[in-house]
Amino acid sequence: MSRLDDVRAAMGRAGVDALWVSAPANVRALTGFSSGADGKVLVLAGEATLYTDARYTVQAREESSVPQHIARPPETYEHAAERVRGLRVGFEAEHLTVAGLEDLRAHWDAALVPTRGLVEALRRVKTAQEVAAIREAQALADRVFGEVRPLIRAGVREIDVALALELGLRRAGAEVGFDVIVASGPRGAMPHGVASERVIEDGDLVTVDFGARLRGYHSDMTRTVAVGTPSEEMRRVYNAVLEAEEAAVAAVRPGVTGGELDALARGILERHGLGEAFAHSLGHGVGLNVHEGPGLRKGSEDVLEPGMVVTIEPGAYLPGVGGVRIEDLVLVTEGGHEVLSRTPKENV
Ligand code: ZN
Ligand code: ZN
Repeated sequence: MSRLDDVRAAMGRAGVDALWVSAPANVRALTGFSSGADGKVLVLAGEATLYTDARYTVQAREESSVPQHIARPPETYEHAAERVRGLRVGFEAEHLTVAGLEDLRAHWDAALVPTRGLVEALRRVKTAQEVAAIREAQALADRVFGEVRPLIRAGVREIDVALALELGLRRAGAEVGFDVIVASGPRGAMPHGVASERVIEDGDLVTVDFGARLRGYHSDMTRTVAVGTPSEEMRRVYNAVLEAEEAAVAAVRPGVTGGELDALARGILERHGLGEAFAHSLGHGVGLNVHEGPGLRKGSEDVLEPGMVVTIEPGAYLPGVGGVRIEDLVLVTEGGHEVLSRTPKENV
């Protein structure tokens, strides 16, 4: 079954006859068309149409086998109006703007029904092709990290480390997946501390979180490395986070829920007195978006299935002192899991 067939099954469950897909990653997942600037898909029981404008005629033809209609609004809406007359049409409530909804209302004689996460739910389990892209993106990121690791030393600014990573990714033919996080010393207490001009000092722990994007698919990995000898306290924190991370990775297998994995890692950090310091969720799915389903967080009932790609990333953040996060990218397999991120975790 293709993703379009899966969408039609999901449409049936949601009680809609048609679906107007406007989120760029969902358009890409259903059609292969990669321009986020102008792409919409109308999915009906027996057909689907990709709408984009004349700037993308060639690209759409190259990337997608879904039938295409090249037009700009309002012609786009008028073309679709013929097909949706009298139907119940789902739209993506989390993505369509209010103006976009008003346009549909103005042009269509149809019942418009808000839907949430319909295509996203199907994107959780990756196709073999998607897994290959993510695997390749991570391998490339591992290689670049290895090249840049010697630069992480006293006297070097965080942004110079980030730039070297970005340059390495670009030179290898990938895009930079998201803002590179390089958080050294006390800045390590900020879970999302993007690289600053701070100069790395002897004794710092340095948290580096970065990813590549290849053919639209992301990798995501964090390593915390030591420059010189960090304080006793921060070494203790590092080893507690490492213990939690390794235990959670080891427990990844089909059937386990995101909530169970989060509780496992959180329990270990709590036993080390770091429950409060673990201020975010354990992990997330990775694909066309760097953050997508399933959710690995407190109470999540999302069940892991073979073909899902998720991160395991516990951390501990001590304001004014520093922080640690360790993140691996993990493929759920029939028999358990495969860790896609291969960069070694250092002894601190
Ligand atoms: Zn990350
Ligand atoms: Zn992540």
